[in-house]
Amino acid sequence: MFSKILIANRGEIALRVIRACQEMGIATVAVHSTADSDAMHVRMADESVCIGPNSSTESYLSVPRIIAACEITGAEAVHPGYGFLSENAAFSQTLADHGIAFIGPTAETIRIMGDKITAKDTMKKLGVPCVPGSAGGVPDYEIALKVANEIGYPIIIKATAGGGGRGMKVAQNDAELEVAFRTARSEAKAAFGNDEVYMEKYLQRPRHIEIQVFGDGKGRAVHLGERDCSLQRRHQKVFEEAPGPIITPEQRARIGKVCADAVGAINYIGAGTIEFLFEDGEFYFIEMNTRLQVEHPVTEAIFGVDLVREQIRVAAGLPMDFVQEDLKINGHAIEVRINAEKLPNFSPCPGKITQYHAPGGLGVRMDSALYDGYKIPPYYDSLIGKLIVHGRDRPEALARLNRALGEMIIDGVETTAPLFHALLEEPDIQSGNYSIHWLEKWLAAKFGG
Ligand code: ADP
Repeated sequence: MFSKILIANRGEIALRVIRACQEMGIATVAVHSTADSDAMHVRMADESVCIGPNSSTESYLSVPRIIAACEITGAEAVHPGYGFLSENAAFSQTLADHGIAFIGPTAETIRIMGDKITAKDTMKKLGVPCVPGSAGGVPDYEIALKVANEIGYPIIIKATAGGGGRGMKVAQNDAELEVAFRTARSEAKAAFGNDEVYMEKYLQRPRHIEIQVFGDGKGRAVHLGERDCSLQRRHQKVFEEAPGPIITPEQRARIGKVCADAVGAINYIGAGTIEFLFEDGEFYFIEMNTRLQVEHPVTEAIFGVDLVREQIRVAAGLPMDFVQEDLKINGHAIEVRINAEKLPNFSPCPGKITQYHAPGGLGVRMDSALYDGYKIPPYYDSLIGKLIVHGRDRPEALARLNRALGEMIIDGVETTAPLFHALLEEPDIQSGNYSIHWLEKWLAAKFGG
């Protein structure tokens, strides 16, 4: 086992990893930018290294600086968290070249899954059902027109190198296609430095269902059921639950096995998520994330496993601590993302926290790096906390969420917490009847625009 791990991240996810390390008796190293000198992850780690100025390109995204921090402190492994360098193949490779373990998949796996066309091709060959669409990249408008008429409107144009819900454009007909195609390409170029796009059938009212998988890197792999992350704003998740309210045990077992077999076949190591759109009882693969997800705690709650501990174990060459038959679902869990954002526009709202009180009690988990007097810097993601509740069933989880939200105090900045209070009043949320478009429609009806 490793004796010291460096966490190449900040905020709640850095704390999440530090906590797992502490329970495993592993020393921790935090890295931070100058803006984060007073951050909780720096306080909680055994050691810390300042790796650069505010800008994340010169700090949390700087591979040479993180390698230097490993060398100075003698860290033997790096946990990347999510975001930043977590899905950067060159980072995984550079660490390997320096004899430092990357707690995540190999550079090759990250590369395959990071290119969405290659990922789709690979998954298709492994028997995973995919959304109907273009066979690879679509180089020009004439071909786009041909593909659109083959698969039928509406269609969605997506960036091969895409991520974070950016660079996607929908077209309803030939007239819209030309503009959509050109904007998608230029946005992809600007956001990802790669203007290749591909096309898919645009599903009308799907749910976003993702399967948590876990592999030992030697061909053994399991699945840990699904999460329903359909409540999204601008293709970004805001509320996640497990199990999915409309997924049957048979559907779960079927798609779970397909996913576990697929990742086993590629000797996948560690935690991964295979994302699907789900409509009329069918699953359609959209992408694979080769890292721990923001919403992993809902899976941890219902399966009673510590996914970070397992990631560290397999990265150290140990076997997985469970087999498929051990993994049984217990109850229902919900996560809501608390962002420092002002409603109704969700504009970032950094500032000083004048009072913080985390909710507690049975079945409540608050993952956050906030504390009284903390100043949220304006340079990074606006996620400041995740409230996760676990109950014996969905109604109990919903009631617990309502109670925990009432108990939570975050003063000094505006947050997205009031949104969830309002959502809990909605009959569709209470009954679990929502698709990926539900939240946008609800926001438009409530606040306009
Ligand atoms: P990203 O990597 O940018 O997150 P994804 O491929 O995971 O992109 O898609 C993000 C979201 O966009 C999905 O959860 C869904 O809401 C929407 N989306 C993607 N593909 C389709 C599609 N074919 N039909 C309808 N909605 C889609």
